[in-house]
Amino acid sequence: MDTTRMRTWAEISLPNLEHNYRALRACIPYGCKFMGLVKADGYGHGAVAVARKLEQLGADYLAVACVDEAARLRSEGIRAPILILGATPPGEMELAAELGVTVTVFEESGALALSQAAGKLGRRAKMHIKADTGMSRLGFAAREGELERSAEEIARLCSLPGLEAEGIFTHFANADGDEEYTMLQFTRFLDLLSLLEEKGVRFPIRHCAASAAVLNYPCTHLDMVRPGIALYGHYPDPGCEGMVPDGLRPVMSLYTRVAFVKPLPAGTAVSYGCTRVLERDSLVATLPVGYGDGLFRQLSDRGQVLLHGRPAPILGRVCMDMCMVDVTDIPGVNAGDVATIYGEDLPVEQAAGLVGTIQYELLCDVGVRVPRVVLA
Ligand SMILES: *Cc1c(COP(=O)(O)O)cnc(C)c1O
Repeated sequence: MDTTRMRTWAEISLPNLEHNYRALRACIPYGCKFMGLVKADGYGHGAVAVARKLEQLGADYLAVACVDEAARLRSEGIRAPILILGATPPGEMELAAELGVTVTVFEESGALALSQAAGKLGRRAKMHIKADTGMSRLGFAAREGELERSAEEIARLCSLPGLEAEGIFTHFANADGDEEYTMLQFTRFLDLLSLLEEKGVRFPIRHCAASAAVLNYPCTHLDMVRPGIALYGHYPDPGCEGMVPDGLRPVMSLYTRVAFVKPLPAGTAVSYGCTRVLERDSLVATLPVGYGDGLFRQLSDRGQVLLHGRPAPILGRVCMDMCMVDVTDIPGVNAGDVATIYGEDLPVEQAAGLVGTIQYELLCDVGVRVPRVVLA
């Protein structure tokens, strides 16, 4: 695609996605299923392009956060199994069943609504049971003292008409930081599975490992893994770096194109609030990228971009649609030159660190007006 007329764009490398998919596959046992996470528009990368590629690569399952995200994938012709990880309101169960997507059930009312929807449509609806082993987000309580009651309830709901209890899962709260807590959660999950088995309830797909557990705790891989961030080429935590033998490659690079370059004398104020006053005669470039594109305003006076391979610090406040950078020390910068905001040579993790957040948030926040240029 021709980017010469684009102000700011995100390049999405499907070859890098494929590399990460294969590199992660190599970390899990043969026969273990692979669920590719494409929630939040594929972590900002563009869910449809990513889902299509994963489907083509042979991913067993896709996962989204809500029924609307699933509907979008189905309308674009994605036929792979899709799990809705979040809560589906009772009124949306029929849509989910119609789309043939799998619903997460974490309380009685959800199971009843799904069973009813299945009955109305005259077809079976797939569900995965969610157990809360310590994340305290969604799930049947799976703490000591509550396991037996939850197992009974789950067993009862699994026998409702029209439901196929295909899977059961839980989610770790701290798989990149706390081994003891992760193993406590894993033990609770296994205990719940044993109690269910005693009642004759077995699930073909038991899963709990997101990226951090895929890398840190092979014992948790069970029947399927659910990596998200690692698939997009980022380690869930700096401690995981080097844990994928083939390495991970960032799928997204964010670029912008210099709009204007001008010399400004020492003493000139730059951008809103005049927070930055130039200490020397400077060459200042204006970039057509701002917080409306996902360049966090907290990067004002702190972040940097790469121009001609060299760092250009952000000067003053990041505006909604533009920002200014110091190119005094970079010879030959002209309007039209490409600046890297994130990419292989300027990891998004660096900007995330400056903002005080995680790379996930910066990727998800790349704006809707930023075209995704997909490299096949
Ligand atoms: C987002 C999410 C994942 C993926 O997490 P990563 O850290 O991106 O690998 C897996 N499981 C659930 C339930 C999630 O919400």
